[in-house]
Amino acid sequence: MTEDIIIIGGGPAGLTAAIYTSREDFHPLVVAGFKAGGQLLLTTTVENYPAFPDGVDGTELVNLMRKQAERFGARFVDEDVVEVDLNTKPFRIKTSSQQYEAKCVILAPGASNRWLGIPSEQKFMGKGVSSCATCDGPFFKNKDVVVVGGGDTAMEDSLFLTKLAKSVTIIHRRNEFRASKIMQERVLNNPKIKVVWDSAVEEILGDEKVTGVRVKSLKTNETATIPANGVFIAIGYIPNTKFLEGKLDLDEQGYIEAIDEIHTGIDGVFVAGDVADRVYRQAVTAAGSGCKAAIAAREYIQNLGFDKNKRGMALL
Ligand SMILES: Cc1cc2nc3c(=O)[nH]c(=O)nc-3n(C[C@H](O)[C@H](O)[C@H](O)COP(=O)(O)OP(=O)(O)OC[C@H]3O[C@@H](n4cnc5c(N)ncnc54)[C@H](O)[C@@H]3O)c2cc1C
Repeated sequence: MTEDIIIIGGGPAGLTAAIYTSREDFHPLVVAGFKAGGQLLLTTTVENYPAFPDGVDGTELVNLMRKQAERFGARFVDEDVVEVDLNTKPFRIKTSSQQYEAKCVILAPGASNRWLGIPSEQKFMGKGVSSCATCDGPFFKNKDVVVVGGGDTAMEDSLFLTKLAKSVTIIHRRNEFRASKIMQERVLNNPKIKVVWDSAVEEILGDEKVTGVRVKSLKTNETATIPANGVFIAIGYIPNTKFLEGKLDLDEQGYIEAIDEIHTGIDGVFVAGDVADRVYRQAVTAAGSGCKAAIAAREYIQNLGFDKNKRGMALL
């Protein structure tokens, strides 16, 4: 059977697309991935998603979105897509156990943060360790924070955090930043920011919550402890597009090149969320683009001659 719409991704973007398309009787199939729920599973309280004045747990937020989509008939497969064929119609989508066909595809596989890969980072995730300054910065008002990284994201995060935190210490592996010159200047001229050069975070310290980091000088091998309540890892993002390489236009970092935010270069293939967003990377912006992609997908399917009484029979 050919599905009308397959949505790849079960984070805020994919789930919002599922809510919209299922309410219109398209019965979308959501291939949500092994990490169904996406990045919000990595956080505790989300305080900036509208309609939750007391905040909402990240996992609960995505569970509610999924429940809302299921209520209208969306179906879910919690497996990763391993291969797609977007050159043929209907489109073909393969997971490790199944092959599916669809007239229309919404790509919302999100992005993954690059992490340091030390065990204490996982231990304190949501308890002082974060990768999202915009999201979690307000939890550290008048506190000491550390930012790890040397690119533009680390500079932006540090500057943003100076407006909230008491102090910001950047820890960078090299003796110069990779970031653009203007961002470097802003950081280096900010009296609230201190930089620890040529150093790597060895351990994140704490008990229930983060109390500091142990850093090692890569020049002298000496270690030192920096007291901090928050640690922001800003060493980059990896868009989850391995399975799309060579299948559609990706930029040099692997983000999908979107036209007008939601269109790919392929008719009938739409995109939503962080996988095409190098700038905003928020649950609400991901949900917003999921809505737009769903409406565009509906237009596309209807122009094909969609008849909900003859599911899967529209002319291709
Ligand atoms: C620690 C942290 C805290 C955050 N806090 C906030 C906050 O407070 N407020 C806020 O607005 N935003 C917050 N964010 C950002 C927010 O989580 C993201 O912007 C948002 O989740 C992006 O949604 P998305 O649907 O595009 O992608 P994701 O949430 O990344 O979801 C991607 C989905 O695609 C699936 N997937 C990936 N690859 C495949 C594949 N090959 N096949 C099938 N499925 C696949 C995954 O399993 C997942 O279901 C936070 C992020 C982090 C990391």
